[in-house]
Amino acid sequence: MCPYAGKSKILFGSKSKALRFIAWNAEEITASHGYCPTRAYYCSGCGGWHVTSKEKYRSSRWELSHSIFEPDPLCRITAGIACMQQMLYNGEYAHCYAALQKTTGIYLNLPEKVRNDKQGKESKRMLLSIAERLSMEMATEAA
Ligand SMILES: [Zn+2]
Repeated sequence: MCPYAGKSKILFGSKSKALRFIAWNAEEITASHGYCPTRAYYCSGCGGWHVTSKEKYRSSRWELSHSIFEPDPLCRITAGIACMQQMLYNGEYAHCYAALQKTTGIYLNLPEKVRNDKQGKESKRMLLSIAERLSMEMATEAA
């Protein structure tokens, strides 16, 4: 039970864990709820991180521009993936494409060791799945 939200909220030990939760579950959550969490925030009431979708009027582009300030590149990629999920959902395909180029660039610049560890591989899988969905959506739109 979160004292600030006044309801039970999932608590994450770190921002990157919260962002990973968003990135890996966005598709499923969106399918069942029609929306999904887009950002992580620190809750001093619980001493950890929560995720929220309460940014209805803030563009997912804004979140992406903030993801570039994540100091850890894997964290930036994860934040980027979360934004791209939202962009796909919003039908912002051109922005999603630009974000994908940028995020893939960050991924390719990671040291090989990082690219091949568990989180690196998962990031790659997510980037490929977004690329696949995006090209499908864009093809449908062009038809
Ligand atoms: Zn809390």
